[in-house]
Amino acid sequence: MVDENEGSGKAPKILPLCYKVADHENIIWVCDGAANVGQIGHEVGVLLTNMDKARMCCTTAVAAGSKPHLEIAGKAKKNIVIDGCGNRCASKVLEKAGVKIGYAIDISKYLQKVPTLDIYQADVKRIAEIVMKEAGL
Ligand code: SF4
Repeated sequence: MVDENEGSGKAPKILPLCYKVADHENIIWVCDGAANVGQIGHEVGVLLTNMDKARMCCTTAVAAGSKPHLEIAGKAKKNIVIDGCGNRCASKVLEKAGVKIGYAIDISKYLQKVPTLDIYQADVKRIAEIVMKEAGL
């Protein structure tokens, strides 16, 4: 098993449970697509969560019909969706579940979609800043 924290001496940041905080937190749903834009979206979700701007939750669990996750989406202060491209997969997952989306971004409007998993931190920061500004975080 790979442990990126190994040897860093840094303890993991333990997050509040989505279920407990959803009614007063902005909840982030990312598509986590297997392309640069999907992976940038994932990292934006991680960054905003670690900045305590919002709390990333499990989009796949909503697609799987997980009741607790559907309830989290239903009671969230604001649902923020980060889609990698115009296919809008994460948005469609929430829409099919009947969830109200407060803000959504299609990253491919700002960055060209490329079939690679290698991403740049500068792109993550740029998209995170757009999300914070437009979603009012
Ligand atoms: S929105 Fe685009 S990048 Fe994200 S999972 Fe769907 S096809 Fe992949």
